[in-house]
Amino acid sequence: MSQPIYDVCIIGSGAAGGMAAKQLCEAGAKVILLEAGRKITSADLLSHKWPYELPYRGLHGEKQAPFTTPGFSRDIRYEQCDPVGIDRVRVLGGRTMHWNAVVLRYAPGDFRQRSTYGVEEDWPVSYEELAPYYDRVEQLIGVCGQDDHLDIVPAGKHYLPPLRPRCSEEILRRTCRPMGIPVIPVRKAVLTRPYDGRPPCHYCGHCMDGCDVGAIFSTPASFLPKAAATGNLTLRTNAVAREILVDREGRARAVSVIDRITKREEEIRARLFVLGCATVETARLLLNSRSPQHPNGLGNGNDVIGRYLNGHLTGNVHIYLDELEGRPPVNQDGATDHVYVVRHRTDSVTGTFGFQVNFDGYMFPHQAFNLRGYGTKYKAEVRRLQGASLLLGGYGKIFARPGNRVTVDARQTDEFGIPLPVVHFRYGSEDLEVYAAIQETAYAITGAMKGQVFPAFGKLPWAFASHDVGTVRMGNDPRTSALNGWGQMREAGNVFVVDGSAFPTSSEKNPTLTIMALTMRACEHIVQQRRRGELA
Ligand SMILES: Cc1cc2nc3c(=O)[nH]c(=O)nc-3n(C[C@H](O)[C@H](O)[C@H](O)COP(=O)(O)OP(=O)(O)OC[C@H]3O[C@@H](n4cnc5c(N)ncnc54)[C@H](O)[C@@H]3O)c2cc1C
Ligand code: SF4
Repeated sequence: MSQPIYDVCIIGSGAAGGMAAKQLCEAGAKVILLEAGRKITSADLLSHKWPYELPYRGLHGEKQAPFTTPGFSRDIRYEQCDPVGIDRVRVLGGRTMHWNAVVLRYAPGDFRQRSTYGVEEDWPVSYEELAPYYDRVEQLIGVCGQDDHLDIVPAGKHYLPPLRPRCSEEILRRTCRPMGIPVIPVRKAVLTRPYDGRPPCHYCGHCMDGCDVGAIFSTPASFLPKAAATGNLTLRTNAVAREILVDREGRARAVSVIDRITKREEEIRARLFVLGCATVETARLLLNSRSPQHPNGLGNGNDVIGRYLNGHLTGNVHIYLDELEGRPPVNQDGATDHVYVVRHRTDSVTGTFGFQVNFDGYMFPHQAFNLRGYGTKYKAEVRRLQGASLLLGGYGKIFARPGNRVTVDARQTDEFGIPLPVVHFRYGSEDLEVYAAIQETAYAITGAMKGQVFPAFGKLPWAFASHDVGTVRMGNDPRTSALNGWGQMREAGNVFVVDGSAFPTSSEKNPTLTIMALTMRACEHIVQQRRRGELA
């Protein structure tokens, strides 16, 4: 029997691939969605397990084990690297299965770094062009929050009721107000009332361990059922894409795919390919797709693919607030963070940072790490501080530089013989200025409160907090970008890249809302091009 030729083959089922599947299936395309990981159910999640029920008390990523496949986290190398770690997953739904769902729009200036600050590049897309897609994505996924009338965090029109601040967050707001630092209700893709057939949050505080009811947005809870309902979706899990194969003209014709369980390899053919494997894995797939037409990797004639790895650097501080110490324990788990500290230094690019608050949850007593001692006295002290914790997690911009990159190494392969990704990354002086500004602000805020402060600022920051972007960048200049402003590959016009690797630069905002808005926009372009016969 001859192999079918699909209209579209999407690789990766996370925020980007899931959105593409929904949009393109709804537009009538016959879509095959390939996902390297397996499908999991709420029975697989460890979210509601107490630390004492787990061998490492929930440390070493124990609760995140369902989101990956055995050995996968070791299948990466870091060479000539400052402290960074890239969180890749292999599961249906990608990282939407264990994200924290803070969804912030990029502001107009975030798309125009060169015009605004004279650094990096302007995007080939403006805020004004993306705003209608932000509106539609927010309405689709369900976002709680409100319009705070702050230019640096532009707001939408469709918000579910905001999360209410807890005691420590009220104290934070009260402290920051006279300092001119806005603290707003967080905008999260978490349901605060029933929405789109999904139940509301029950405030267990385990968003990043997986939500058993689908109150936080994930593609398996939202986009994938919508795509399947069209009858146009073929879903293949445990399907690892090895390389994209091209025709004589250098356009993509098929993808070589290995079944993770049977190890059988086959070619899947399609007219169009949409890549959503995320920053490291999309670059890896393209760099591994070498052919006489693309000897340096698919679409990599200008040696851009893999370069400009950027995203977020981080540094945290914990304070235990005097006025909340020793209170009787109450359930304050909530939906991880409830408020957000907005970027307040908008006049300089090194002021590109904000703070997420209390995202570490309360089930595990984090103060146990900070306190010294042992025995009964120590335990009593841990209990006394349990309700007093306030965590400020700084998220700052990393600048996009060509030398920070992902390469592949043919001498080192995974269990399927696929060359591993190698990350090369060094912080630059501007990154370290952002880091210094984060620390200065964190100390100014905590210094204005009464309590014990435990900073966790290393000499260098930590990156990328799962907000990695930039290795297959879009752009106006074909010399420094691989994709045009629609995410379409310049050297192979039937390949689109829709995950965060397409970002030319980053801001202090988390990337996923922008990933989804760009994907929706790219899909509309694909549908129009298909109608005009330009992609056939
Ligand atoms: C703990 C945590 C907290 C986060 N919190 C936030 C937050 O608050 N706000 C925010 O904006 N973002 C957050 N993120 C980041 C967010 O999850 C990602 O930005 C988003 O999921 C990226 O979507 P994506 O589709 O590009 O990639 P992913 O969601 O990573 O999906 C990629 C998919 O591609 C599949 N894949 C990869 N390679 C192949 C291959 N060769 N063949 C087949 N399939 C393949 C993977 O298995 C995976 O399912 C967080 C992430 C984590 C881990
Ligand atoms: S806090 Fe709410 S959204 Fe997060 S995992 Fe629990 S129920 Fe789901």
